[in-house]
Amino acid sequence: MGETEFYKANSVKEACDLLAQFGERATLLAGGTDLMVLVNRRQLIPEVLVYIGECGLNYIREEETGLVIGAATPHVEIVRSELVQKKAPLLAKVISTIGSPAIQNQGTIGGNLGNASPAADSAVALLALGASLKLVAAGWERTVPAADFFVGPGKTVLKPGEIIQEIIIPEEAAEYKWAFRKIGKRRADVCPTVSAAVAVKTENGRCKAARIALGSVAPTPLLSKKAPEMLVGKTVDAALIADVAKAVAEETDPIDDVRATAWYRRRASEALVKELLSQVIG
Ligand SMILES: Cc1cc2nc3c(=O)[nH]c(=O)nc-3n(C[C@H](O)[C@H](O)[C@H](O)COP(=O)(O)OP(=O)(O)OC[C@H]3O[C@@H](n4cnc5c(N)ncnc54)[C@H](O)[C@@H]3O)c2cc1C
Repeated sequence: MGETEFYKANSVKEACDLLAQFGERATLLAGGTDLMVLVNRRQLIPEVLVYIGECGLNYIREEETGLVIGAATPHVEIVRSELVQKKAPLLAKVISTIGSPAIQNQGTIGGNLGNASPAADSAVALLALGASLKLVAAGWERTVPAADFFVGPGKTVLKPGEIIQEIIIPEEAAEYKWAFRKIGKRRADVCPTVSAAVAVKTENGRCKAARIALGSVAPTPLLSKKAPEMLVGKTVDAALIADVAKAVAEETDPIDDVRATAWYRRRASEALVKELLSQVIG
C-alpha cells in the first residue's frame, strides 16, 4: 500500500488547482467524519488528500441572493448562527439533530452534501428551503438547484475537479412555516431511518407555495413533485393533508436495510408528512 500524500489548501483557488493537478487521484477532505470512517475500514485508500477545512470556506453571511453558507462551515456554527436562526430556522433545527456534539464540531455542511447519502439531514432541509449550490473548479463555476444535485447513493452532479463552494438559501425561505422530524433507532450518533421536512407559505388561508422533502426513502434525498401540485392554490383541510401524505409516500422508493424495511419506511413517510403538514397548516 502506497502512502497518502496530504495537501492543505490555503484558498479555494489552491484547492481547485490541486484537484486539477491530481485529477482522479485526489480526494477532498473537510471534517473527515464520513471519509475517515471509510479510511479506517480500509474501504478507501486515498492517494492524495486535499484538505479544505482552512481554505476560506467557513462563513455565513447575507447577500443579495439570500443567506450564503460556505461549504466548509462546521455544523455547530450553523446551529449557533443568529443569522441562520433568523433566515432559515429549519436548517438550524435540522443540523442540530446531526450525530452528536463531536460530529457537529467536526463535520461540515459541504461534506454532508458531498457524501450524498440518501439520509443526509442537511440535504432534506435545503431541498425544503429551495436552496442552490455554487460549484467551483479551476476555470469555471456554476450554480445548481439542490434538487438537481443528487443523482444516486454517493453520487452527485459534481464534475471531476469541482467542489461545493457555498450554499445559497433564497431570502423568501424566511417566509415559510416549517416543521421537521426524523425517526431513528436512538437520538444521537445515528443516521435517520426516515426524515421529513415541510415548508409551506400561506396567504389568506390558501397555500401559496409548498415543499416537502424526505430522507432515507429513495436513492437520493427526495423532493416531492406531487405535494406542490396538490397544495398550491388550495385551502388545506384534513382530507387534503391525508391525500398529500399518501401521494408523497407513493413517490418514495425505499429499500430494506439494517435500519428498517421498505414497507416501514413508506408507511412512516406517510405518517410523518401527515403529522408535519397538520402542524404547519393547523
Ligand atoms: C457517528 C456518526 C453519526 C452521524 N450522524 C449523522 C446524522 O444524524 N445525520 C447526517 O446527515 N449525517 C450524519 N453523519 C454523517 C456525517 O457527520 C456527515 O455526512 C458530515 O457532515 C460530513 O462532513 P465532513 O466535513 O466530515 O465530510 P468529509 O468526511 O470530510 O467528506 C465527506 C465527503 O464529501 C466530500 N466533500 C467534502 N467537502 C466537500 C466539498 N466542499 N465539495 C465537494 N465534496 C466535498 C469528501 O470528498 C467526501 O467524499 C454521522 C456520521 C457519524 C460518524
